[in-house]
Amino acid sequence: MKTNTRRPRLEASFATKILLLLGGMALLAGAALVSPLPAVKTVKVNERIYALLGPTELPNAHNGGYMVNSTLILGDKGAILVDTGFSDEIGAHIRKAAEKLTKLPITHVVNTHHHGDHSLGNTEFPGAEIISSENCRKLMIDTGADWIATAESMTGRKLPNTKAIPASRTYASQTRTAAEINGVKIEFWVPEAAHTRGDMLMWLPDDKVLIAGDVLVNTVTPAFRDAEVRHWVQTLAEVQRFPARIIIPGHGPLMTMQQAQTMHKQMAAFHAGVEKLYKAGGAEADVRKQVNLKDWQKLKHFDEQMGGNINRTWLEVEAENF
Ligand SMILES: [Zn+2]
Repeated sequence: MKTNTRRPRLEASFATKILLLLGGMALLAGAALVSPLPAVKTVKVNERIYALLGPTELPNAHNGGYMVNSTLILGDKGAILVDTGFSDEIGAHIRKAAEKLTKLPITHVVNTHHHGDHSLGNTEFPGAEIISSENCRKLMIDTGADWIATAESMTGRKLPNTKAIPASRTYASQTRTAAEINGVKIEFWVPEAAHTRGDMLMWLPDDKVLIAGDVLVNTVTPAFRDAEVRHWVQTLAEVQRFPARIIIPGHGPLMTMQQAQTMHKQMAAFHAGVEKLYKAGGAEADVRKQVNLKDWQKLKHFDEQMGGNINRTWLEVEAENF
């Protein structure tokens, strides 16, 4: 009788252990499916500016879409964060990296352009004033939902809390505005177009630092999907008027002005090559054979990006010459 009464209890406890074990394994498996975001690489530019560099891979399940370079600028009463990542989760990841560097609250967020990898993390900074170009604001309103869908499909993550939150302070196209935020002098420069129709660069004259967004990228293939290539080349020529000590690009390591000049030359030669071929009666399919892409082939994501880049440039040249 004794064993009979005890056995069910033992069985129950054994079953409970198995269930707990299985539950624990399921939790571990679940955790493994959503891998942690890659670390933020913090580079101190000077006493008050930090570049928070993201990975240079394209968005995937492993990196959760974290790929953007952000900049943290420490002012007297608060900090300014430039570019916020592809989701609320990445925004929080960047905010935590910022909190390791300063106790100052992030009072201002700047978006260099509307692309989701630079702006969807705005969700994470509800108290901050958001600043962008006027066109960036419009493009965020028009394409924000598409960018959230893109982030979800490329990373395999659901992003129920990510919203496209556009700027409340904007600067018009083709303007340069000298401003001061938290005691930091900043010139906001909105060129006509470049990587997008809504790019905005930031020049910090006291620091001699240029924050370029994706107008300048380093070691990766520039993405032309929303670009105006002729204007981009012009903008890269204008970039060289700044006596910049350091350039913080939208993706990849920090740049010198000499590297910016190299990117300008490469972009100008590519655009001129495509235009020459078009005017000589060539076809888009001839670009790879007749335009020198040797320097481009060294860049990351050449295979993924270059077909689209050629197509975008071809269509632009065609439209201009029609
Ligand atoms: Zn971009």
